[in-house]
Order: sequence, then C-alpha cells, then structure tokens
Amino acid sequence: MTAPTTPPRHAAALDLGGRTALVTGAAGGIGRACALRLAAAGAKVRAVDRDAAGLDALVGQAAGLAGLTGAVEAHPLDLTDLDAAEQAAAGTDILVNNAGLQLVRPIEAFPPDVFHTVLTVMLEAPFRLIRGALPHMYGQRWGRIVNISSVHGLRASAYKSAYVAAKHGLEGLSKTAALEGAEHGVTSNCVSPGYVRTPLVERQLADQAAAHGLPEERVLADVLLQDSALKRLIEPDEVAEAVAYLCGAQASFITGISLPLDGGWTAH
Ligand code: NAD
Repeated sequence: MTAPTTPPRHAAALDLGGRTALVTGAAGGIGRACALRLAAAGAKVRAVDRDAAGLDALVGQAAGLAGLTGAVEAHPLDLTDLDAAEQAAAGTDILVNNAGLQLVRPIEAFPPDVFHTVLTVMLEAPFRLIRGALPHMYGQRWGRIVNISSVHGLRASAYKSAYVAAKHGLEGLSKTAALEGAEHGVTSNCVSPGYVRTPLVERQLADQAAAHGLPEERVLADVLLQDSALKRLIEPDEVAEAVAYLCGAQASFITGISLPLDGGWTAH
C-alpha cells in the first residue's frame, strides 16, 4: 500500500491566522472561552460585551497567555443598540453570537419589558450582526457563523418563556442563514449546550429554587440536571472547542445544524 502524499485532514491543527472573529458576550463564561480559543488558533478577536471591565479582564488574560498579546481587542457595546451592533460586525470573517441573559418566572409574572430585552439581545441582535457581517463574508466567499443556542433551542422548560422563545428563534435564523449563505461559502450553525458552569447558571439557582419551591442545593440535581443523562455541568472550554471545530476546514460541509452538547438531554 502506498503512503498518502498529503496528511489526512483531521491531522491538521486549526489555523485561523489572518481571520477576524467577533464574539458577543465575550466578558462572560462561554464567550470568554470562545474568544481565547479562537485567538489561540490565530484569529484576531473583536470582543463585544456591555461589561467593559469584564472585557478589560479578558484582554489582560489574553496578554498573559503565550502568543496572545494583542490578539483580543475590547469592543464595549450594549447589543440593544441594534444599529451599533450591525456596524460592529462589518468586516468580520467569523461571527459568534453568544451574548445572552435569563429570567426564570412563570408567564403570568414575566415582566413584558424583560421579555422584549431578551428577544432583542438574543434574537434581533444576532440578526443584525449577521446582516452586518454578510457583505464582507459574501465578498470573500468565506465566512463562519456560530450561534450559541441551547438545549432550550430544541426543548422547552417551564418558567423560561423569553429564553426558550429566543433560542428557538435563533435556531431558525441560523438555518435560514445557512441556506442563504451556502452559495457564498458561508456556513451557519448552532451549538446547543445543556447547563454550562458559568455565572448565568449560578445566578439561576436561587430563582429556580423559588419557582420550584425547593432548597437551592437541590436545584442542580433535581431541576437543572434532571433530563441530562450525564450528571454534571459542561465546562465553557468544552463549548469553545465545538465552536472552534465549526470554524475549521474539517467542518466546511457542516451547515444548518444544531450541535447539542447536552449530556444526552435531547435523547429523551
Ligand atoms: P454569562 O452571563 O456568563 O455571559 C453572558 C454575557 O452576555 C455577559 O458577559 C453579559 O454581559 C453579556 N450580555 C448580556 N446582555 C448584553 C447586552 N445587552 N449587550 C452586550 N452584552 C450583553 O452567560 P453564559 O452562560 O456564558 O452564556 C453565554 C451564552 O450561552 C448565552 O447565549 C446563553 O444563553 C448560552 N447558554 C448558556 C448555558 C449555560 O448553562 N450557562 C447553556 C446553554 C446556552
């Protein structure tokens, strides 16, 4: 048997040198991990968040890692400013729509203004960011859109009306972007985690305890991980690794999917 002349593609390390990536919610758990992972692969990262201090901490963290000084640039922005969001995405090769927020309340007690904000940040802003990014992506016939959805983009849970609605909408937006982008070399996919060890989840424990009438220490096992076959939280780095994979050459035929990182939740 003759030896192959080129190494198998799966042996190639992810190389995003020369690419610009915009990550929203980059001051938070998953966004931060994505920003650092894409920077480690060689991308210049535009880190977007409304938390300017958190972005500064991220830039400092990157500067402390070998080879990443200057690789992450802070771009403080509140994504409810939709025009600014669209402008911020111009010229990016990779877009990671990650920013999000959660409120756990029954529908009859859910404040309408919060519902509106959740839909704005988690669905309308991604639409505007994609809209801002596409002209450059289409022009160069290459682009990667990764939308951080959730198992709640595929399944509902009680008391999360806005979040579940936004994530289901994001799944639809992502699939539509995949269909439109295909002929232009642009892929669009969702990564859909179960519960990840981040501040967003830690903040939920008290709310969930009140909504379900349980002591806080039982919320993790009895509520959050009830439907997960694997009884642990996922780490942000594991989510970032899936995002990086979808940006690599190995994933060029993957588009329009939702990749559940859910410990078997959607196997039910
Ligand atoms: P996080 O709260 O740690 O980070 C979210 C970030 O979004 C924060 O830095 C926050 O400042 C930013 N943000 C919120 N509103 C914003 C706005 N108006 N403008 C700009 N930035 C804004 O949360 P996380 O757990 O890292 O979540 C990141 C994404 O992952 C979210 O979309 C979330 O829905 C999704 N997700 C999280 C989990 C989980 O278990 N943590 C599970 C599935 C999906």
